[in-house]
Amino acid sequence: MNNPRPCYLQIAIDTPLNAVFDYRWQCDPAERPQVGQLALVSFARREVVGLIVGVVDETDVPVEKLKDALAVRSQLAPLSAQWLALAGFAADYYQRPLGEVALPGLPKNLRVLTTVALDRALKKLTKLDAPHDPTPSNMPVLNPQQQIAADAIGGAQGFKPTLLYGVTGSGKTEVYLQACAQVLAREPDGQILILVPEINLTPQLEGNIRARFPGVMLATLHSSLSEGERMLHWLAAHQGKARIVLGTRLAILSSLPHLKLIVIDEEHDPSYKQQEGLRYSARDLAVWRAWQLQIPIVLGSATPSLESWHHAQSGRYRKLELRERAVQNAVLPTVKLIDMERDKPNDGLTSHLVAAIRQRLERGEQSLLFLNRRGYAPVICCESCGWISECTRCTSFMVLHRPEHRLRCHHCSLEMRIPRHCPTCGNIDIQPLGRGTQRVEEGLQALFPEARILRIDADSTRKKGSAQEAFDTVHRGEVDILVGTQMVAKGHDFKRLTLVGIMNPDTALFSQDYRASERLFAQLMQVSGRAGRAGIPSEVLIQTRYPQHPLYGAVVHHDYDHFASALLEEREQAALPPYLFQALLRAEARELATAIEFLTLARDCMQHPGITINDPIPMSMTRVHNVDRAQLLVESPSRPALQAFLKEWMLTLREMKSRVKWSLEVDPLDI
Ligand code: ADP
Ligand code: ZN
Ligand code: ZN
Repeated sequence: MNNPRPCYLQIAIDTPLNAVFDYRWQCDPAERPQVGQLALVSFARREVVGLIVGVVDETDVPVEKLKDALAVRSQLAPLSAQWLALAGFAADYYQRPLGEVALPGLPKNLRVLTTVALDRALKKLTKLDAPHDPTPSNMPVLNPQQQIAADAIGGAQGFKPTLLYGVTGSGKTEVYLQACAQVLAREPDGQILILVPEINLTPQLEGNIRARFPGVMLATLHSSLSEGERMLHWLAAHQGKARIVLGTRLAILSSLPHLKLIVIDEEHDPSYKQQEGLRYSARDLAVWRAWQLQIPIVLGSATPSLESWHHAQSGRYRKLELRERAVQNAVLPTVKLIDMERDKPNDGLTSHLVAAIRQRLERGEQSLLFLNRRGYAPVICCESCGWISECTRCTSFMVLHRPEHRLRCHHCSLEMRIPRHCPTCGNIDIQPLGRGTQRVEEGLQALFPEARILRIDADSTRKKGSAQEAFDTVHRGEVDILVGTQMVAKGHDFKRLTLVGIMNPDTALFSQDYRASERLFAQLMQVSGRAGRAGIPSEVLIQTRYPQHPLYGAVVHHDYDHFASALLEEREQAALPPYLFQALLRAEARELATAIEFLTLARDCMQHPGITINDPIPMSMTRVHNVDRAQLLVESPSRPALQAFLKEWMLTLREMKSRVKWSLEVDPLDI
């Protein structure tokens, strides 16, 4: 070093303290670290990796308190100013310190003390020749509606949010791929980000993309990659080598220096919302990112979220429609309601549904039975004294998992053997009540002993790779009857499926949550959409006790438009989102009273004109894992007003230094 001089690095660290910390760094003025680089520092008696957000000549920190940074990761190109702005926006909007947003957004291997993993990945990448031939292969001819959509998206310049509203099976994927082809051909370095809601949907799309663009590097980013893979893929995107990045919600924070198009598939899906920690919406961040970069973004769905539909109606988003299924002769399935009061179910199945399954078996076609409840039975009970299997730690029940001979709480993971007799009265006759996928599977096997039945749910796919194996089995035609939860309802292109049976969706009709009907409708339309995709006539049978309910009427007529418009009107009259903006403050404590007390203090600690703060209430599932939970809903018709209030409120609450554990969620989905 010729003339080492200190400069000061302002470093964001992953800590709940809302601050950036200054460190001293001695270096040749010509080799000053850059904003967006990572640095190793000691913080609270640990060594941690932080993100440099400023490099300055002076600091207010007194000399005796100032520490030297330990190392700067100069081998990594700095994160761009745009990326920092994205992290900064997310931090601001979701009311978190920058470090808590930016650092967890990076691969873990970048945040460890040594650079061994980083150096290894960098070396691997230099050896890897990034192919650079964006020529697509085997492009199918689009139908006229698809062509219009692909051209509109692929040819768009500037910030152009587009809602691609296409019925299930209308070939939205093909539209994305051909729009991608146009962008890749036009932009020599251009990168594209494609998000899917569920990890199980990545292999199908990954296969399509690789086959279509054999000369382009694709990187995937999702939670089932090993840390080594994640690092490699992240770096490939960061260096601009990967031209297409395909991932789940976490990929929204990937570093993409030449991003030119964003695709959000199944944009309505609640999985885009992170449900713990930083509770962000990847879809909403994606729209912001597209705006920031002034690039087009496409949000695709057969059942758009009411938020996006509202934007399309008001003209903020451009709406493109695909009204027909893409495969020749493929039409939407006929949807029928089976009145369970008339056709009493036996073992959960009405005679109509059983007959329809039998018919499919005879014809060699596949059936899907959809039931959004895993396990054997949601609860077991004693008929003589009324005991039921409640979880001792949660406000919920222990679910019977018969194949594993266990009772299991799905909320705190408490497990126990199935009791031989009633714990209260000793009665040995304890019975399962209600049914989950395991019980349906068992009933079907008894009814159709020769049928090949496969259950797909979170239990059956616990092992890595087993979900993919299961879906492949279905695609190969080695399954006659598929039983599954929402895992099978989304996105999959099952070619041989001609019957969808929906077992009992009624409970969601009467939920307290105003979003329940929107969600139920989307789910029914999506699962129905798995049938009849190859041109064979198909049907959907919905078993219900309320065949007159208008929601089912809309499903029968595949009528999203009217349903959505009616729902929007209701929301407007009731002053609910998207006409109102909300945030939820949650508190947790051993005693419910403590949590409520904290929320009451929070409610009263500040003036809040223009903001409605409701009373603190226990959460609907109050106790989880021996912790009581309560919530406080904050509302305003103005987003900026709500944001301004939240900012000050958070400062005040942090000052309170309460021992109660609390967290804020902006734009909550479950209230
Ligand atoms: P969506 O995502 O809209 O539900 P997909 O993208 O899965 O629909 O497409 C449904 C099926 O239609 C796929 O099997 C796909 O290969 C086929 N497909 C899409 N576009 C065309 C086309 N232009 N011609 C023929 N088949 C097509
Ligand atoms: Zn009993
Ligand atoms: Zn529990």
